[in-house]
Amino acid sequence: MSSRHTSRRHGSAHAGPGTPPEVCAVPLADARAGRPAAVLFDRDGTLVHDVPYNGDPALVRPVEGARAALDRLRAAGVRTGVVTNQSGIARGLLTRAQVDAVNARVEELLGPFGTWQVCPHGEADACACRKPAPGMVLAAAAALGVDPAECAVVGDIGRDVDAAAAAGARGVLVPTPVTLPDEVGRAPEVVGTLTAAVDLLLDGAAAGAVRA
Ligand SMILES: [Mg+2]
Ligand SMILES: [Zn+2]
Repeated sequence: MSSRHTSRRHGSAHAGPGTPPEVCAVPLADARAGRPAAVLFDRDGTLVHDVPYNGDPALVRPVEGARAALDRLRAAGVRTGVVTNQSGIARGLLTRAQVDAVNARVEELLGPFGTWQVCPHGEADACACRKPAPGMVLAAAAALGVDPAECAVVGDIGRDVDAAAAAGARGVLVPTPVTLPDEVGRAPEVVGTLTAAVDLLLDGAAAGAVRA
């Protein structure tokens, strides 16, 4: 992991040659609207390891630190939700019942979420819910009784943070090895782990933050 994955600095443009860049004195949280009222998570590749078109609850494996991170949000009174594209349903590779069974297993392992939003459509359906469209983020915000602007979306690919932006929410990217460099490059905020994403959202902590 490169240094830009572990630190974020300001002021280097004003530093002379050989002068170390000044670490920004303003805590990140102060520069933002503050702690979100709700955090919406992508499922595959973000909360659980991605098993393409998984219909088997036995194959659900949470990413490291997921339960603890979610419990910290819950303890802080931050609402949680899941927004997940499941085009395997449209492709006939999965049934909605299988997706629901996998989602139930996710809750068993990670605790309850305030809302689940599932898009069963494929790209050709041109629906309003499939990320990067904002539909699921807006629906989740409505279900949780919060403004989309008070929501953050955490995901592993560009579609997740693009859906957040389209809904007027904050987007945090947690790349995996399959995340495209372009998606990392244009994401508004990038951190290395799900734990670091929750740190950033709860405390504005710079640890693990790449950019904001
Ligand atoms: Mg994903
Ligand atoms: Zn859809």
